[in-house]
Amino acid sequence: MRVLIADDSLVMRRLLEASLQGWGYEVESVEDGGKAWARLKSEDAPEIAILDWMMPVHSGLDLCRMLRSRRVARYTYVILLTSKGLREDIVAGLGAGADDYVVKPFDKFELEVRLRAGRRIVDLQEELVKTQEALREQATRDALTGVWNRTSILEQLAKEVDRARREKSTLGVVMMDVDHFKRVNDSKGHQVGDEVLKAVAERVMGAVRSYDSFGRYGGEEFLVVVPRCPEAALVAQAERLRNSIEKEPLDSQGGQVAVTASFGVTALEPESAVGVEELIRAADFALYQAKSRGRNRVEFIRADDQRAE
Ligand code: GH3
Ligand code: MG
Ligand code: MG
Repeated sequence: MRVLIADDSLVMRRLLEASLQGWGYEVESVEDGGKAWARLKSEDAPEIAILDWMMPVHSGLDLCRMLRSRRVARYTYVILLTSKGLREDIVAGLGAGADDYVVKPFDKFELEVRLRAGRRIVDLQEELVKTQEALREQATRDALTGVWNRTSILEQLAKEVDRARREKSTLGVVMMDVDHFKRVNDSKGHQVGDEVLKAVAERVMGAVRSYDSFGRYGGEEFLVVVPRCPEAALVAQAERLRNSIEKEPLDSQGGQVAVTASFGVTALEPESAVGVEELIRAADFALYQAKSRGRNRVEFIRADDQRAE
């Protein structure tokens, strides 16, 4: 674990450095509050800070306040180190946001156990952040393929519809469905079916642009949201996706499996009034046409035309 020492006394810094290194900490030290702040607010800030109260530029107390007024996920555990040992000082220090308080001249054993307490807090906090990230991941990702789940991809579609309206740009929506997927399950088993779905999602993931969103709409049906793409380029983009699946068989535990997919494409025109549901309906209708016209193909339909029907 990394510890930042901020103290304007060279003797104190050397003393602390020697002790902390002896206890196995990675130590960095600075001689004023300005340099301390630069480290504390950086991306790779040390997890624990031992701050002198009286320092040039920013006092330890100021640093505590500055640190606690930021809204960041990572926690810095702060021990104030000072010769001010009065009850009011302790109250002021903890009130400003310090986690603990050690009075100079410090007792080595006391500092060591206080640091250990800090380490426990930092460890717990890191676990908490990891759990939160995992939960967020679970709530937004499809468990099988790792792409956005239905809720997330629909949320992103809604967001992109708003943005396309604001920017007066064209937004593409591509609905994709694996062809005769039931046959894969029936002939090779559900597990191979799962593998194939994963592999299909991977291929599409590798073929979409970085600012496109790709999600599992349900079963073997996927949705691609394609922002800022002129209508003419949309079908070509869907063709690329189609080709990425068709080009060679997928490897699975049940051997190689050749699959194809059909694509329904629609676009939200800059001046159009169609909403999310109508876009989905239009893409779905285009997909239905691709299926009925032989599968492994791309069909395009204007959302406004579909609306008029
Ligand atoms: P079409 O070309 O008309 O789309 O034919 P299809 O067989 O792909 O379509 P259908 O809708 O009849 O069948 C889809 C199948 O996909 C049925 C369902 O059991 C299977 N399926 C849906 N989700 C999953 C999944 O997560 N894993 C596996 N292995 N199969 C799934
Ligand atoms: Mg299908
Ligand atoms: Mg289907």
